[in-house]
Amino acid sequence: MMTRPDILHWLRETDPLRLDELWAHADRTRAASVGADVHLRGLIEVSSHCRRHCTYCGLRAPNAPLPRYRMTSEEILRCAHQAVGFGYGTVVLQAGEDEGLSASAVADVIERIKADTPLAVTLSLGERTEEELALWRSAGADRYLLRFETSNPELFTRIHPPHSGRTCNRIALLGLLRELGYEIGSGVMIGIPGQTYEDLASDVELFAALDLDMIGVGPFLPHPATPLGRDGGGVGETPLRRTGETPAPPAPTDQVPNTEGMTYKMIALARLACPRANIPSTTALATLNKASGRELGLCRGANVVMPNLTPPEYRAMYEIYPDKACVFETAEACHGCMIRRIRSIGRTVGTGRGDSPNYRPRQGRTVEAGR
Ligand code: SAH
Repeated sequence: MMTRPDILHWLRETDPLRLDELWAHADRTRAASVGADVHLRGLIEVSSHCRRHCTYCGLRAPNAPLPRYRMTSEEILRCAHQAVGFGYGTVVLQAGEDEGLSASAVADVIERIKADTPLAVTLSLGERTEEELALWRSAGADRYLLRFETSNPELFTRIHPPHSGRTCNRIALLGLLRELGYEIGSGVMIGIPGQTYEDLASDVELFAALDLDMIGVGPFLPHPATPLGRDGGGVGETPLRRTGETPAPPAPTDQVPNTEGMTYKMIALARLACPRANIPSTTALATLNKASGRELGLCRGANVVMPNLTPPEYRAMYEIYPDKACVFETAEACHGCMIRRIRSIGRTVGTGRGDSPNYRPRQGRTVEAGR
């Protein structure tokens, strides 16, 4: 296991030759732990409505000019069938924290997908109640993605204000999701204004402590219609301005940059911290390097990609950050592009559900422990 000084050393390393060692170590660990297959997860962005006021995200409720949509069950089911046609093993239903997505409607759509297809269903619907999460699990949902965004509690509360006075503890929620039997996924944004190298090292340690089955990391990308995008987005060269909603900046040398290079470091360190986790090469990374970000992520620890299945008429409205990669593509185009990219680096396209090998042994241990 890596020590904290090891993690910090890699996060601060700038020598490309030394970094090649990190990439190679992460890639070998990936090959030995999860193999050559790249699993495809069809992403369906089911609703852009959101009740939250997260200072980083373009879907935040106060962003009034953003047009909102909510897909019908029939539309979601059509996308799921399209996923089967493309040979995907999983669909991910993602949305803003939308109360209009009622617990029963979501349960119903999960049941219909599970009845009609062999797909694994992953949910990424934000912080919902224990009853809702339990209902969706019993309806057949397999996995839940909930990034803790940053392990620094003060920074998290500043960028992710609690909803109507209720405290929100995503780490506790991940524990609950695990108890309910979900495969659990989490992750962070990289280069949030106010985020330090120490914070990122703690993030990596928390990935390991939570024994995550899935880990998604990506650069923070400033959205001009958000407080962080307006005031604190220009991370790096220029000092960050202090305003009411913007976190106080750390000393300039401690501020993590929201760069492609930092993202690869975090992918590689996530792989070393959690060898058997499923780790996507994310769209946010591809947004920073449209030519080869996906491939480089896959060569530096990642083993999953998430082609977008959201109907083209809705895609532009799911604007969590601007200039998102693939926003004008059709599902067919995304599919073909991903397959080409995977084959171009000598990897194979995963078949079947692509469950995390981390999940089965843990379930086994739980059963044994219960005997
Ligand atoms: N409402 C769900 C899904 C949010 S979108 C939830 O809160 O869990 C999924 C992820 O996109 C978020 O967890 C966040 O890490 C990322 N994201 C949001 N805004 C972003 C931005 N401006 N730059 C980069 N990533 C962002």
